[in-house]
Amino acid sequence: MHRLTAPPQGSNEIFSANQLRLCSALPKVELHAHLNGSVPESTLRELAESRQLDAGACVMLQRGDRSLSNCFKLFDLIHQLTTTHEVITRISREVIISFQEDNVVYLELRTTPKNRPECSMTKESYLQAVLAAVDAHEHQSITSAEHGICVRLLLSIDRRESSEQAWQTGLKLTLHAAEVYAPLETHAILDLLPDRLGHMCCLDDDLEAKLLGSRIPVELCLSSNVITQSVPTYPEHHFATLYHKGHPVALCTDDSGVFATTLSRESYW
Ligand SMILES: [Zn+2]
Repeated sequence: MHRLTAPPQGSNEIFSANQLRLCSALPKVELHAHLNGSVPESTLRELAESRQLDAGACVMLQRGDRSLSNCFKLFDLIHQLTTTHEVITRISREVIISFQEDNVVYLELRTTPKNRPECSMTKESYLQAVLAAVDAHEHQSITSAEHGICVRLLLSIDRRESSEQAWQTGLKLTLHAAEVYAPLETHAILDLLPDRLGHMCCLDDDLEAKLLGSRIPVELCLSSNVITQSVPTYPEHHFATLYHKGHPVALCTDDSGVFATTLSRESYW
C-alpha cells in the first residue's frame, strides 16, 4: 500500500480535548472488535486479583504499558482468566457496556467458539455463555430509557484450525488479511470475495488495485496496526489512501482493552 507523505500529525498532543469530546458524543458503529481483546482493564484487574493470577500482569495493567510484548502477555492473561461460563458471560456483558458508554449504537462483536474440555466447555456452551449476555443486554435496552446498543455476534474461525472445524462455524464472511505481506494468501482471500475484510495493511500495487476493484469494505484498526507494527506510524496508515480513493472503510478498535483505546479515540486520530 502506498504510504502517505503528509507531515506527522497523529500524536495526542496535537488534538484538543474538544475533538475527543466531539468524537465521544457522536453515535458510532463498531464492526471489528474481538471479545477477549476488548475486555475493559478494570474487569481484567478484578478477575486477575480474585484468581490471584500472575501478579506481574496486574502490575502491567496498572501501569497501562501497551508495548507489543505486553499486549501478547495480556492476551495470555485473558486466556487464563476466561475458564468458566460465568466469566465468559461477565466479560461479554462488560464489553457491551464499555462500547455503549463510548456511544457506540451498533456493535459487531467477534469471537472464536472455544472447545476447552479442561474447563468443561464446548463450542456450543461457550457461545451460549456469550449469547446470554447479548440477550440480557438487548432485553434491558428495550425496557430502559437509555439509548440502546444493537449487538450482533460474528463467529470467528482461527486460521490455525482445520477446514473441517471452519465449516462447523462459517456463515457470512469477513476475513483478516494482509497484516503482514503475504501476496499469495491475500490474492486467494480476495478471490474468495468475502463480505468484508480486516486490516489489509501490506499490499503491493497489484493487490491494491485488486482490492480497489473489488469494492469490498475494509475494517481499519489504526492503533492495533501501529502497536503490532503492521503499519509504522499513524500518518502512514492506509486509511487516508483508501478513504481518498472512495473505497468503503470503517474505523474499528480490534482489541480496545488490550490496545487501551476506544472507538472515539480511533475516530479522533
Ligand atoms: Zn482483528
